Order: sequence, then structure tokens, then C-alpha cells
Amino acid sequence: MIYFDWTATTKPTDAVVDKVNTVLTEEWGNPSSVHGFGGNAAKLLETARREVLRGLGFGREAPGRLIFTSGGTESNNLAILGAAYAKEKRGRILITEGEHASVEMCAAALEKDGFEVIRIPTKGGVLDIDAIRQTKDVYVASFMLVNNETGAVYDVAAAAKAVRENSPNAFIHTDAVQAFMKLRFTPERLGVNAVTVSAHKIGGLKGTGALYVDKDSLTKKKLSPRMLGGGQEDSLRSGTENVPGIAAFGAAVREAMETFTDRAEAVAKLREHLEERLGGTPLIMNLPRMALPNILSVTVPGIKSETVLNHMNERGFCISAGSACSSHGHGMSMALTGFGLSPEAADSTVRISLSHLNTESEISGLADALSDALSLGGLKSHK
Ligand code: PMP
Repeated sequence: MIYFDWTATTKPTDAVVDKVNTVLTEEWGNPSSVHGFGGNAAKLLETARREVLRGLGFGREAPGRLIFTSGGTESNNLAILGAAYAKEKRGRILITEGEHASVEMCAAALEKDGFEVIRIPTKGGVLDIDAIRQTKDVYVASFMLVNNETGAVYDVAAAAKAVRENSPNAFIHTDAVQAFMKLRFTPERLGVNAVTVSAHKIGGLKGTGALYVDKDSLTKKKLSPRMLGGGQEDSLRSGTENVPGIAAFGAAVREAMETFTDRAEAVAKLREHLEERLGGTPLIMNLPRMALPNILSVTVPGIKSETVLNHMNERGFCISAGSACSSHGHGMSMALTGFGLSPEAADSTVRISLSHLNTESEISGLADALSDALSLGGLKSHK
């Protein structure tokens, strides 16, 4: 099988597997234990914390805290529900139209609980900053940095600035799961209070992630915990930390930082080759104004994405329809319709995601197989 679904998850790198092995066999202590064995595990956590913070652009000292969680989903839940319920009253929540389910479902739950939710349009993959500017009294805002279905890079810095014009005390969060280690950004330059990252999208393990929370939010207690217990992770996420996963997350970030430019250049070249191969075919590339090169949304006119996926699978290629997470039956992809696709087009759209580990010949094979998918409709109508 040739893998083109790197946005869904990545293969753990050798450095990650080595780190997990070492921690599982040698440093399996509880980081909260006061004895030396626990202390070793605690040191591993702090090393990983520094590595992930470095990945977020911080030097030795970060003004805020990195809270380790069980992944992007939990970090998003902690940020949005945690900020919304940190105050007594019900306020206004801003998100974008095409958020990952772990943000959208939090917003929908808050809506049911009496909060007002406004979903900002993202037509053409562009976040509508004017619509944000016109919204007053914002309580919590969450704008993803890179859309997982289209690769669109949203101008979160401009969005955060627009929120603060009318709502200087708003808690602003970004889901940077698909941006982390692909795009250079810092929480401070984005002007946000909190950032979600996930390990398994960058060569780490599933079930490991983090939420960066800035100092202002910590001192003003703008975030309430969702998980209560032993007070780990600054009491914002109780539960004994997943030390092997977290240590491996640190190793994955270190490796990704060291190879950042090489990986980015390799992916950019593969993307160029893919666009060349798909250009001139009836396949439609849904290109946002600003996008990461590793994600390409392609509409196969007249053929349902499920049919395309089956065909691609038979030809040995792993791709996905929209996002892996929306394939659990939450209905039509809001990211794609928000981008401007008709419901029919969205239903015929697949996502290709690239890694530096792919090759040009794999891309050529993928492009041929995808072009062949166009004839599936014709075959069907003859039956
Ligand atoms: N946000 C985005 C944008 C994602 O793509 C994903 C993963 N599909 C998540 C959040 C959830 O991350 P995790 O799988 O670590 O829970």
C-alpha cells in the first residue's frame, strides 16, 4: 500500500520508537512519585515539555505552560469548554465554519447549553476577518490555523486582532494540529492565548498532545479543568501522565525541528509534481488562496468519494474522503461546503496528503489511478 493519508496520521519515526522502548523498559516510574525513580520520569516530562515549547518558538523560558493531554481532541475540549465554563455566565463563542469535529462538537454542546455560537465563513479558504470585526462581546474564540481537509492556512493573527478590537478580554485559541511542524508560528505572533498540538501528526504516538496556555490566562484563571483528580499538569489535566508518549512527542518535535527545511522542500517538490500531473485532467483541485503544500483536496466530478476511495484502495493507494474524523458519519463536510463547494461536489471530493517520505514515482502512480477513477461513472451508467 502506498500511503497518501499523512494528515490522518503518520508513521512513528525510529527516534520515537527508540524513545518509547527506553522509557517503557527503563524509566517507567510515576512522575509524581517523590523518590528518585519518579524523579527520572518527571525529568523526561520536563525535557519533552521544553522540546515542544521550542517547537512553538519559545527559548529556555516560556511565559505560559504546556499542558500535556491525550491528544488534539482533548486539548481542543480543554481549551473551549474549559474557557467557556471558567466563568459563571453564558457568553458568545466564535469558531470558523469548517473546524475539526473536536471543536465543532464542543461549540454545538455549548450552544445547547445556552451559549451563543457564531461560525465565521471561510469561503475560498479565507477567514472572513470583517465578520469577526463586527462581532462584539466575544467570550471564547477558536480558529484553526490549517484546515485539515483543504490545507487552507487561516490568518489567525488578523482574526485574533479583530476579536480583541471589540473584546479585549476574550480567550482566543487556535487548533494548530495540522500546522505544527509544517508552518513556522508562535502563540505570541498569532496573538492567541492557547494552542492545540497533537503528536501523531508529526511522527509521534496517537493519544498524546498538548495545550499551550499563556501566562495571562493562567494568572486570571481563564481556563477551568475538564479532568479532575490528582492535580497533575498544573491542575489543568489530572491523571498520571503518559510518559512514554510524551517523551516520544519531545523526540518527534526535536527531529521535525532539525529537518524542518528539508522536509518542507521535499513536500513542496512533490506537490508541484502532483499539480502538474493532475492539471489538464477533468479532476478539480480545490485550491485555497493560502495553503500548505502537504494537503490537496480534489473533486472527482460525478463520482462519489466512497467509490473513488474503494477504487484507489484496490489500486494500492491510501487516501481519504474529506477528513478521517468526519468519516464517522457527522454528515456533510462543513469545511468543504464552507470553502464554496456544492453538496454534490463535496460528496465527490477526496483528500490527498503528502509527506517527505513519498516519492515522485508514487505521485505519478497516484495521479494515474485518480484519473482512471473518472471513468468509474461511465462504467456504472452502462450497467
Ligand atoms: N484538529 C485537527 C485539525 C485535526 O486534524 C485532528 C486530527 N484529525 C484533531 C484536531 C484531533 O487530534 P487527535 O487525533 O490527536 O485527537
